[in-house]
Amino acid sequence: MMTYKSTRGGDAISLDDALLGGLAPDGGLYVPTKLPQFGIDDFDSCDDTPSIAARYLAPFFDGSALQDALAEIIAETFHFPLPLVDLSPELDAPLSVLELFHGPTAAFKDIGAGFLAACLVRLDRDVADERPLTILVATSGDTGGAVASAFHRREGVRVVVLFPEGKVSPRQQHQLTCWGDNVVSLAVRGVFDDCQQMVKTAFVDEALGTRFRFSSANSINIGRLLPQSVYYAIASLDYFRRHGRKLSFLVPTGNLGNGLAAVLARAAGLPIQDITLVSNENQTIPDFFATGDYQPRPSVATLASAMDVGAPSNLERLRHVFGERDDLTSMGLSASSVSDDEIEKQIAVDAKRLPFAWCPHTATAMYAWSQQGDAKRQTDQAIVATAHPAKFETIVEPIIGNTLPVPDALAELLALPSEFQTIDATVAALSEVLS
Ligand SMILES: *Cc1c(COP(=O)(O)O)cnc(C)c1O
Repeated sequence: MMTYKSTRGGDAISLDDALLGGLAPDGGLYVPTKLPQFGIDDFDSCDDTPSIAARYLAPFFDGSALQDALAEIIAETFHFPLPLVDLSPELDAPLSVLELFHGPTAAFKDIGAGFLAACLVRLDRDVADERPLTILVATSGDTGGAVASAFHRREGVRVVVLFPEGKVSPRQQHQLTCWGDNVVSLAVRGVFDDCQQMVKTAFVDEALGTRFRFSSANSINIGRLLPQSVYYAIASLDYFRRHGRKLSFLVPTGNLGNGLAAVLARAAGLPIQDITLVSNENQTIPDFFATGDYQPRPSVATLASAMDVGAPSNLERLRHVFGERDDLTSMGLSASSVSDDEIEKQIAVDAKRLPFAWCPHTATAMYAWSQQGDAKRQTDQAIVATAHPAKFETIVEPIIGNTLPVPDALAELLALPSEFQTIDATVAALSEVLS
């Protein structure tokens, strides 16, 4: 049986309790107590996404009540392509792009949110509790849409999305407010921190607690991390089978969920060489790699807003499982930081030489690649495309002087009517809406 432990100590618990708990009671994050060790030939009989996902995730689900449902959960989550696109014809270097934006809300968060939702609704069926399960999610833009999409029309669950009024892009707002049914969308008269504070307060509010059972589906849940590791397994195996060489990744990084997923896959034996964590002007992680000290700080606003994190939660997991700066460096990990000017410049340069444009987040990874020395750039690498540029058209279109094609899934959402209520940034206002 696989067990999980808080990064801050305590007893080992089951995967199911870690999934239902989200954050550990001591404030730590759950991590597996051991990592599976795969050889590449363990995947010999796996030649599609579901079979690779099932093989990779099986040890993590050993002993879970969800073990027998794992194939079904995988089928519900990985229902869109995760292509590794070769850019070598355009760039004259062995660079690929791992496109993770073909899901319903056009960002990689669809995978983690979808998987967690598929797990939670199944676990919840066995919870003897009269109070309806209510997923509260505060969002600065991308997460809320992915979580709403993941839980939309799932029986016995309600989702309440709180976003700061006027502080998300028009298309993001549409993705937060187009669901209906069991999804309630709330524009909060305040900033993102107010939304987050309302959620935290609601969680411990006694009166609300008698009527509702809250869960958070937030990004630190282990149920979002594990499936993200799968696309690194798929991409690195695909590349290794075709070229006989390990692939390195450059990962746009905010809260470090995506980057940590790559590190997990590498440590579990997948054919991954180096991993570069690329931040925007929020430099907490690059500074940690430069000095060895972790100095959290308030976030600053950048063009790559989904990476605006000054205190990346998953750094606690990374250090707990894999050690301090020197241990991490010796595993092939490094970090760099990219400014807004550099993001704009990279989007402009690449729109001229590539058949598509980058979203501002993906552009950070591409910039980091372009800054490598010639020898390094001739090694096998992939940048991770975390969102479709059409989600951030108000930033990207003026830079490239052109309109962006909208992917079908996104176009479908944008065609739906939008509905939301605007409320004050108080728990009293939230409570009134919930009733
Ligand atoms: C959330 C997000 C990121 C950052 O991912 P982390 O797992 O928080 O490091 C990067 N790009 C996009 C588009 C995102 O939505």
